[in-house]
Amino acid sequence: MGVFENISIPGHEMVNFFQDESVGLKSIIAVHNSTLGPTCGGLRIWPYESEEAALQDVLNLSRAMTYKSAMADLELGGGKAVIWLDKNQSKTEELIRSYARFLDTLGGKYITTTDVGSDVNDLQWISEETNHVVGLPIDQGGSGDTSIMTGLGVYLGMKACAKHLWGSDSLEGKTVAFQGFGKVAKQAAIHLAKEGVNLVATDIDGAKLEQASDLGASIVSISEIYDVQADIFSPCALGGTINSNTIPRLSAQIIAGGANNQLESDATCEILIEKGIVYAPDYVINAGGIINASCEIGAEYSEQRSLEKTEKIFDITLNILNIASYQNISTVTACDQIVSDKLSG
Ligand code: NAD
Repeated sequence: MGVFENISIPGHEMVNFFQDESVGLKSIIAVHNSTLGPTCGGLRIWPYESEEAALQDVLNLSRAMTYKSAMADLELGGGKAVIWLDKNQSKTEELIRSYARFLDTLGGKYITTTDVGSDVNDLQWISEETNHVVGLPIDQGGSGDTSIMTGLGVYLGMKACAKHLWGSDSLEGKTVAFQGFGKVAKQAAIHLAKEGVNLVATDIDGAKLEQASDLGASIVSISEIYDVQADIFSPCALGGTINSNTIPRLSAQIIAGGANNQLESDATCEILIEKGIVYAPDYVINAGGIINASCEIGAEYSEQRSLEKTEKIFDITLNILNIASYQNISTVTACDQIVSDKLSG
């Protein structure tokens, strides 16, 4: 495998491979771009099929973090970490502590927090090994659960799309289909339910489906979610689900969700444009979590400051949609131009 070839494609500064056989740790920390500040991003713990899959994921995710922080106007760069579990391996305290000690050797170039597979318990262990961690509970000096602001941002991103497409940001009476009903989807759905939106949800976890039902959502199977009659399709599980196979099945006019790296490739944008689907770039509308975490770096955490910054996601999204329409380009290309200008100073 051409490691440097892989690294040079998304333009990473540094990719670190860590192994600790004594606890079964295989971890990769990718630092994509630190022009705007120290890099920050979550720790994903996942049983990847292969080393290549783990590497590709961390490279894509860390690049997305650069875009996310730049688009949200944060003084942070983009980084991400993965722990690659074996098929039958579970995470353990020793594994997490070992990861944290490796992360500490980067001297603050990468700051970690939670992502799929990691939680606040892990952050507590990490914080005992290194200072380069954000997202601890508020009563422990951290910024708390990121998914609250992420869910709010996703909701506001949907409203910006509605305003752009339908002339009003009201979502009352519309239908939103959630693919995955974890922490972020639930937070977004709480706002939507209050606004009188019809909810449809799928998840591989029955407990999450119960939470969705409690908010009034209709439940469908994993494969049916693409065929649901909906106004907004909201990917809130893992990435890559928007592709040439799934797009023809969607009835939604808007795609706006919390999952990172929703589009299979940049070329997917063209298919969306052809089908007239408005796409809210994932890293723009799911930035609430990193915005919230950034509010504990270099200052005491303030929920009010976090809320004010997260609310800007509505205007940022609307601006991107307008630029894309005006210049006849995809929303992703519109973001590329803005981020590239910011990174080149
Ligand atoms: P989560 O683990 O709480 O939720 C993900 C949900 O997706 C789980 O309930 C899981 O059972 C479900 N799922 C997994 N595979 C599925 C499938 N094939 N079909 C349907 N459901 C499936 O995670 P989360 O924190 O809600 O994050 C969701 C997504 O948003 C992830 O891609 C994450 O990277 C991204 N994200 C999260 C945050 C945050 O603040 N938590 C911030 C930015 C981006």
